[in-house]
Amino acid sequence: MESVEHATSGGFEPAEGNVIIAFHTRNAGVTYMKIKVDDIAAEAKGLSFREPEEDVNRLLSHGVRGEWRLRAPIDVCLSYYRAGAELFFEGELEASTGALCARCAEEFDSEIERPFRFIMTPRSMADEIGAAAEPDDGEYGVYDGDEVDLSPLIREEVLLALPTRPLCREDCRGLCPRCGTNLNQDECRCPEPAGDPRLAVLRSLKIQRS
Ligand SMILES: [Zn+2]
Ligand SMILES: [Zn+2]
Repeated sequence: MESVEHATSGGFEPAEGNVIIAFHTRNAGVTYMKIKVDDIAAEAKGLSFREPEEDVNRLLSHGVRGEWRLRAPIDVCLSYYRAGAELFFEGELEASTGALCARCAEEFDSEIERPFRFIMTPRSMADEIGAAAEPDDGEYGVYDGDEVDLSPLIREEVLLALPTRPLCREDCRGLCPRCGTNLNQDECRCPEPAGDPRLAVLRSLKIQRS
């Protein structure tokens, strides 16, 4: 069973008689953001929508980047147009995320922003050209039938935007390996590590770098 959840209309510069060209549907608990191929013209149009976070969070809980969660729906803003049979989608997404810091184990919030560009080719044409003709950098995709579903592309971009190692801040000092004190909040009284010459070399390297 498909149900239309809500719809959004296009237009960075609202035009007269703007029609609804894209719509969200939910099917078996997954959301689809579909655009009718026939409604994509050579002249660029704008579209913004909010993609629900649950589908991404489900992916996160089962895969890589498992430390991350989205806190809210993903804001997507894009323009789309065609050149012949190829469809172009260019825009940016923003999302509020949270994770446990890999160094200090504190939960923190952060924002991600990611520009993206998808070029979609009809499957029949892609088969003719052959897969090797296009560089495999994730920008290129194929579409079937008379609709393009943007949701899986958006979800993929969100996953790519999440750092592999979540840090509450670049210079997080982490936990003391001896007493577990969070060194961002407190100094501890643990003795300096004893003078292993190899460690000393590492320490001096660190000092030089900063
Ligand atoms: Zn931290
Ligand atoms: Zn300590």
